[in-house]
Amino acid sequence: MSLKASEHKSGHLVLPGERLGVIEEFIPDSGTYVKDGVIYSQIVGRTLMDLVSKRVSVYPLITGASVPNVSATVVGQVGNAQSDNVLVRIFKIGPKKLSGVFTGILHISDVQERYVTSMNEVCKPGDIIRTKVISNKNQVSHLSTKDKDLGVVYAFCSRCSSLLEPKRHEMQCPKCGNIERRKITLDYGKEEI
Ligand SMILES: [Zn+2]
Repeated sequence: MSLKASEHKSGHLVLPGERLGVIEEFIPDSGTYVKDGVIYSQIVGRTLMDLVSKRVSVYPLITGASVPNVSATVVGQVGNAQSDNVLVRIFKIGPKKLSGVFTGILHISDVQERYVTSMNEVCKPGDIIRTKVISNKNQVSHLSTKDKDLGVVYAFCSRCSSLLEPKRHEMQCPKCGNIERRKITLDYGKEEI
């Protein structure tokens, strides 16, 4: 199985383990690894598909010097979401708001001690989430929400985008009545953004 021609483009945002192509069509370069003849991304980054030299590489989104420190508390907006991880566009480190934006990744195993079946129950694209940096492996901030102070601080209805209100163990939309699930913080709705 090969990728569609339209996917052979540079600049795609990819996650670790994301399929980039097969060794019959590309030579794997930096930021990639090969398993059973298939080339995957090793990091969060943007693809560079050189159609002349037939090389595929992935460039990290952030560089070493600017990565938030491990154990820093960071706030960001949930971006690209998959069932087992989400990307977070970090715009605040501790109390300090940033002019630029870093990208971090929150994996489902780092959400809470208790087992979570899907990231869908934790957060959704557009939500504002407070997390802690647990590592900067491969120059990507890996995030965790394993604390009562960590989790979604503002959640928005996926039907009408209104701010959701916590109701018992669920979140309810005051406008359309939609019920959703999130992993929220104790001080939900109070973060200064
Ligand atoms: Zn709604």
